Amino acid sequence: MGKRFSNDSVEVRQSRAAVMAPEPIPDDMDISTTRVKKTASERAQIFNAMQKNDFLSRLDEEQISMMVELLTSLDRCPGDDIIKEGTEGDSMYIVAAGELQVTQAGRNLRTLTSGDVFGELAILYNCKRTASVKAVTAVKLWCIERQIHRSIMAIKSKKKREQLMGFLKTARTFKSLSDEQLSCIIDSMEEVCAARCHFPHEAPHLHYTSSLNLKGLSGIEYAHVPVSGVKFQDNEVIVREGAEGDTFYIILKGEVEVTKKVNGQQKIIRKLEQGDHFGELALMREILRTATCIALGSVTCFAIDKDSVSSLQLKDLIPVLYQEGRYQGSPVTLGVGGFGRVELVTTLHHGKYFALKKISKKLIIQKRQEEHVLFEKRLMLDIECDFIVRLHGTFKDSRYIYMVMDFCSGGEIWTKLKEVRHFEENITVFVAACVVEAYAYLHKKDIMYRDLKPENLMLDSRGYVKLVDFGFAKKLRRGQKTYSFCGTPEYMAPEIIQNHGHDFTADFWSLGVLIYELMAGSPPFSSSEPQNIYAKILDGVIKYPPHMGEAARSLISKLCRPRPGQRLGNTKNGIKDIRNHRWFNSMNWHKLRMKQVNAPTVKLIRKGPCYINFDRFPFDKSLAEEDFSGWDREF
Ligand code: ATP
Ligand code: MG
Repeated sequence: MGKRFSNDSVEVRQSRAAVMAPEPIPDDMDISTTRVKKTASERAQIFNAMQKNDFLSRLDEEQISMMVELLTSLDRCPGDDIIKEGTEGDSMYIVAAGELQVTQAGRNLRTLTSGDVFGELAILYNCKRTASVKAVTAVKLWCIERQIHRSIMAIKSKKKREQLMGFLKTARTFKSLSDEQLSCIIDSMEEVCAARCHFPHEAPHLHYTSSLNLKGLSGIEYAHVPVSGVKFQDNEVIVREGAEGDTFYIILKGEVEVTKKVNGQQKIIRKLEQGDHFGELALMREILRTATCIALGSVTCFAIDKDSVSSLQLKDLIPVLYQEGRYQGSPVTLGVGGFGRVELVTTLHHGKYFALKKISKKLIIQKRQEEHVLFEKRLMLDIECDFIVRLHGTFKDSRYIYMVMDFCSGGEIWTKLKEVRHFEENITVFVAACVVEAYAYLHKKDIMYRDLKPENLMLDSRGYVKLVDFGFAKKLRRGQKTYSFCGTPEYMAPEIIQNHGHDFTADFWSLGVLIYELMAGSPPFSSSEPQNIYAKILDGVIKYPPHMGEAARSLISKLCRPRPGQRLGNTKNGIKDIRNHRWFNSMNWHKLRMKQVNAPTVKLIRKGPCYINFDRFPFDKSLAEEDFSGWDREF
């Protein structure tokens, strides 16, 4: 999720904290009393530790410095328990000095030393500790409690709100709106990442994330419009006649000159000033700029970008109904997952099909998956790859959050595999090649996928394969490792099982497992007992069925090397080494990326009603419980 995601907005985290924690913060809580004096080198150590931490590094400068001020110090003796597995926690710690041991169910997981952070989930919400931490030597810790952390977030967001209100009031376009309406607009905004914005420190950067109708602007209604502040220098061309445009501007400060070419001469048409707007035609599809707009002096604008589904709204999505059979007349359900259902919908407007994933908000809260779902959404919205299912937008109501995805009409690879037992080699080559392309895209963006399996691969109408389900994906810096235990047992790399820390290379292992399963019909390491699966993975012995060719065996054994450092893909030329393996000799990679390869998978796709490649599900009339806690603000 490149830009948008790496700068994981502070607003978002703040809203989560406010939602999750059952304890409201007293309005007038004075956190200044808990300030603890620190030396410059202590500050530097804390700052460095925070930069290294996934979660803390997302805080902005101001929040980091508040946090540094407010950390209290704590001394513990050898043998002292800092955190006990299964108990509730409300503090996060940074190790200043000494050594600690992390254990889970009596098993040693890792050692913590100076600069390590632990217990950070506890400052987001009231959760049970998942591991124990004990002091090995005498230790000095920096510590912060959830209440203090939440106050830091609250102070920041209150300030920002006041700033934004003032900002919106200067725009003539918003003049007719009441404070209450402006407040609604602010609610639907989130900070946009600095990379997109031209001036990170001067004005609030905004980003609409929910439906919003701004009537009166050329009669255009738009939902899901990303908004941001942009600054231009004197004489800078903001909009050029004849160019493609996808941004609409409101002038917040300064003047803009509008010119048009008449008989080959640039003619000044008019001057625009604070509160005026221009570029609105861009919000309608495929329109070229009809005039040139140039900054006169320095100009600050409020910019609204056209979004790919700017016209799509939840109410426009119409359920597709089964046309025959047992469930005739009831809405088509494509699949049922752990948290909700995926339904087939269409629009009157363009008649395209979409898969609408509908997830119960209450269930997400019960299973503490808020952070995951938010992450999945941000990640998927930023992905534009032909080998990954596209998320067009999200909606919410009182009971569900909704994700609108491209409909992969060919169905799941899993279903197809079960139908034919195992795939012919050319089909497996094609499927694996699509996965390699998806991996190349994700890894380049520093995203690990971590959930490869036939159940998460879908076919589009042309037989091209797309990855779905980003519930386990993770952003990881190069050279960094992660320690979370996740995935599907059969597809897990040995270093995940052993908790040695894993990285992108674990995805290559699972590619080896996938190729094996598609060709053999079952995965190389399998058993009804997960414990036995793990044991087999650690043994690393692969038995190949007689019909499997030598090239396939060679590739699988190179992808499934026990030592991540020796795995194909983690070799000199990276993922190219996988593409260049002789098993892929028949693959024209360039043509594949251009989608010019005839997919051999088409013969697996059945013809008939649009839902023919899916199992059928009865309509679920029950309604999930309502939830107004607000964790889903971003949807
Ligand atoms: P779980 O986490 O339990 O795997 P989930 O709630 O995350 O489930 P998904 O796996 O995303 O849900 O989707 C459930 C099923 O819906 C899929 O297995 C697939 O059959 C179908 N499905 C999902 N996305 C699409 C899509 N874009 N097009 C067609 N069908 C889809
Ligand atoms: Mg799934």
